[in-house]
Amino acid sequence: MNPSNVTSRHSTVIPLHPHDRVFILTGAGISAESGISTFRDPNGVWSKVDVETVATPEAWRRDSKHVWRFYAERRKQAADVRPNPAHYALARLEAELGERLMLCTQNIDPLHERAGSRGVVHMHGELMKSRCDRCERPPFHDERLYLEGPPRCECGGRIRPHVCWFGELPFELDAVLEALEISTVFVSIGTSGTVAPASHFVLWAGRGNPGGTARKYYVGAEEPENAMFFDEVFVGKAGELVPTLFPAVPELPKNELQTL
Ligand code: NAD
Repeated sequence: MNPSNVTSRHSTVIPLHPHDRVFILTGAGISAESGISTFRDPNGVWSKVDVETVATPEAWRRDSKHVWRFYAERRKQAADVRPNPAHYALARLEAELGERLMLCTQNIDPLHERAGSRGVVHMHGELMKSRCDRCERPPFHDERLYLEGPPRCECGGRIRPHVCWFGELPFELDAVLEALEISTVFVSIGTSGTVAPASHFVLWAGRGNPGGTARKYYVGAEEPENAMFFDEVFVGKAGELVPTLFPAVPELPKNELQTL
């Protein structure tokens, strides 16, 4: 890896130009300061629970009650959590950039929406949604706990959490890849760079542009596994760094606004 791209500055700025298209990828680290454990947190939920027993289709087939209870517990905890300054900063950025921003999260928590973001793509699903494991009924908002086990669908199937388990295909990948390939600025926040396909996004960003690439930044508490693919790595807490990233968002010239 190239250590020259690593900085430990505690505040930084990503310069934006009027024609930039920004792709933001967030991971568990952005919600850490809101009190939701990351995947790797030594004291986190995942250090006590074996992923194989709660986050795979095999686990669901083996013991759906156990899997459902695990997510019900997460729902209960998420009911009280609040967004932190990083979530709010990204909601403000969306308000300023509109269609020029894609916010894609690996998180299943609802903190981006609670901060006011509207167009969030949850590539790994949403904790507060469920769907049937048998019929085509669309996913629906669901905050029920049913701690005794998964409720039944009208078709007889079992209601499962609307999350992407290991071995399943992430959601909305076509739209994500399209936005990624034409992005000119890629910013990854609080994700360890270990879970594919999100860990490869940094390689695909800007691939469809004339120069074949984008300006690539990482923001997080430590260097990610894929640090060598970023132009700059800013080490620090998301809640402190993200609000300083985009101080001045340039506007498109008025005669170009209607073409977006
Ligand atoms: P991860 O736990 O593997 O990595 C988290 C990263 O966040 C680490 O690199 C860590 O250094 C960084 N981090 C920790 N505290 C931070 C802070 N305050 N500010 C900035 N960065 C901080 O998580 P991941 O890369 O998102 O991938 C793990 C998988 O687990 C994903 O599939 C995700 O869907 C899932 N997950 C989701 C949630 C959630 O919904 N909030 C929580 C845990 C895990």
